[in-house]
Amino acid sequence: MGTRTRNPLAGAFAKYRLEGTVTDTGSVTSTMRRIRLVVDEPIGFTYVPGQHVRVQINDPLSVSGLLRPSETLRTYTIWELTPQERAIELRVHLYDGDGIGLRWARAAAAGDRVTLWWPEGDLFTRPAPFHLFVGEETAGAAFGPMLRALEPSARVYGVLESESPEHDLPMPGPHQLQRIHRHGAPAASSATLLAAVAALQLPGTDGAAYVAGEARTCQMIRDHLVRERGWNRRSIKVKPFWAPGKRGLH
Ligand SMILES: Cc1cc2nc3c(=O)[nH]c(=O)nc-3n(C[C@H](O)[C@H](O)[C@H](O)COP(=O)(O)OP(=O)(O)OC[C@H]3O[C@@H](n4cnc5c(N)ncnc54)[C@H](O)[C@@H]3O)c2cc1C
Repeated sequence: MGTRTRNPLAGAFAKYRLEGTVTDTGSVTSTMRRIRLVVDEPIGFTYVPGQHVRVQINDPLSVSGLLRPSETLRTYTIWELTPQERAIELRVHLYDGDGIGLRWARAAAAGDRVTLWWPEGDLFTRPAPFHLFVGEETAGAAFGPMLRALEPSARVYGVLESESPEHDLPMPGPHQLQRIHRHGAPAASSATLLAAVAALQLPGTDGAAYVAGEARTCQMIRDHLVRERGWNRRSIKVKPFWAPGKRGLH
């Protein structure tokens, strides 16, 4: 509960923070880590599948946090919420690189204390004749809870990219997405993902599309849907999760 004392600024923001403890971790794939947290207080927020929390790696209200805000919070989607157990489970992609979130996820172990910022976000499913999901590993971590929340009768299309088949994140529920693999090609500006989306047979342009992952790839997919398929921009929810050289997108 340290963040609720000392810093007067922190007091004003205390209601937006959740304190918790890591209770369990594990590997879903060799590059996808499962981290389960139990928060101290009963869950008092309204949850919509697709929402994310921000893990506080360094206090954004401390002097060093105010000087370097990009080195404070990292965003991860709630993969599964179990309110009666006050449990929040995350899926964190262990990409080949370096970042404070990556370091936290690699090292997270049962017993670690964690501060989270209140769930937020606008990557939700919405009623539509069909749903289209497009993204890579990090997007898969967000699409899982969204897919789980859809009715079994929903019409679902989409492509999930990963490095190779052993890196495919299993999706919950009856709705499965096509898998494609980069095999060493970059995830940024992914020609592999664009080509797979271009080859999809879709029932029309009146669906709801959810595009997440690397920022430039997201733009390429949206441009394809709008310019080559005639989708309305408003039907496409684009959420850049990361971009080369940028730190801590949210
Ligand atoms: C709304 C939202 C929800 C998200 N949900 C999830 C989730 O559930 N699971 C998850 O794993 N990620 C998720 N992300 C993505 C995650 O927040 C970013 O990958 C974040 O950059 C990780 O922080 P970091 O400190 O490791 O790297 P940063 O310090 O932010 O970045 C350091 C460097 O690493 C690069 N980098 C960051 N992520 C990747 C990556 N995945 N692949 C290759 N290079 C990368 C950056 O471009 C940068 O050059 C989400 C992002 C958003 C905005």
